[in-house]
Amino acid sequence: MRPLVAHIDLDALRHNYRLACSCAPQSQAVAVIKADAYGHGAVACAQALESEVPAFAVACIEEAMALRDAGIQTPIVLLEGIFSADELPYVDKHRLWMAIHSRWQLEALQAFTPSAPIPVWLKVDSGMHRLGFEPEQTASVWRSLEAMPQVGALHLMSHFATADATDTGYFSQQMVTMEALAAELGAPLCLANSPATLARPQAHGAWNRPGVMLYGSDPLKAPNTFTHQLQPVMTLRSEIIALREIKVGESVGYGGRWRAARRSRIAVIAAGYGDGYDRHAIDGTPVLVNGKRATLAGKVSMDMLTVDVTDIPDAAIGSEIVLWGKAKNGEVLSIDEVARHCDTISYTLLTGVLPRVPRRYG
Ligand code: PLP
Repeated sequence: MRPLVAHIDLDALRHNYRLACSCAPQSQAVAVIKADAYGHGAVACAQALESEVPAFAVACIEEAMALRDAGIQTPIVLLEGIFSADELPYVDKHRLWMAIHSRWQLEALQAFTPSAPIPVWLKVDSGMHRLGFEPEQTASVWRSLEAMPQVGALHLMSHFATADATDTGYFSQQMVTMEALAAELGAPLCLANSPATLARPQAHGAWNRPGVMLYGSDPLKAPNTFTHQLQPVMTLRSEIIALREIKVGESVGYGGRWRAARRSRIAVIAAGYGDGYDRHAIDGTPVLVNGKRATLAGKVSMDMLTVDVTDIPDAAIGSEIVLWGKAKNGEVLSIDEVARHCDTISYTLLTGVLPRVPRRYG
């Protein structure tokens, strides 16, 4: 077999979920497992968390139905609600909860007769300016929903644009808006994503919605005592499949961009952008070779990448390569560090790991 596997540490997932709960002991934490649990496999992650999680959150009905088909019975929230009125029978049949962010969704629900009231999270646009009702419209929409027999437990939700930033000005404006609405309507709130769960206690409501932190990524610009306790869930592990010596001045890979400044040993690794490893990873992006840090040399190819192992004498064919996650010797290479070298965020790296990379659970 090609030696490239995404190992998924389900104990680490449970640890991170418990950390989210301990950051916000007064709140219930919905585990956000949309986008196939950020690339980790939604069914396996849901099964691992099911006994301790009060609800899961996904982006669409297909994701929710895949969980139901796998036997997951826990409540599931559709974070964007329905995309067409035709979905309502499935919301009802699969006992889903739904966000409502637009008037047409409310009207579709008004015209539908569910077998049991559907819990609704009314989404307010408090500053993200993506989905949600204007704050000024919210009280009247809330009261309409309250009066509808189709609607079960009702919550107010909103999403933060800058909860990860060190400057809390914009976050505070969003909080003021939501606190005023909650006070006016006596509404329970669901606001906090991972950064707000980790670092903004004032945003902790009846429910929080941590996502990326469950997978061990630190979303904060300024890490805190909680983020230091996060454990990586995915380890993207490969091996050295070839080694070569190159002379001073010789180049490696497409475009010949990386040139050896000294006599160098180059390891070829079985992983590339055809597996989802980001092609924007530049020279100097770290990897772990037998648990020791080395760096990429040359451009990432579709099925291979190349690493300068000149300073790693025990690098040999078959040596362990960790592209992110935890090496067998316990050394950790954080996905956030790799993401910075690719000028991206952990979310894209995790969700970008392609299906040809087998997931192995443990
Ligand atoms: N809530 C909503 C509405 C989201 O869209 C997301 C993710 O994008 C989350 C919560 C989880 O965010 P994070 O992964 O930053 O915790």
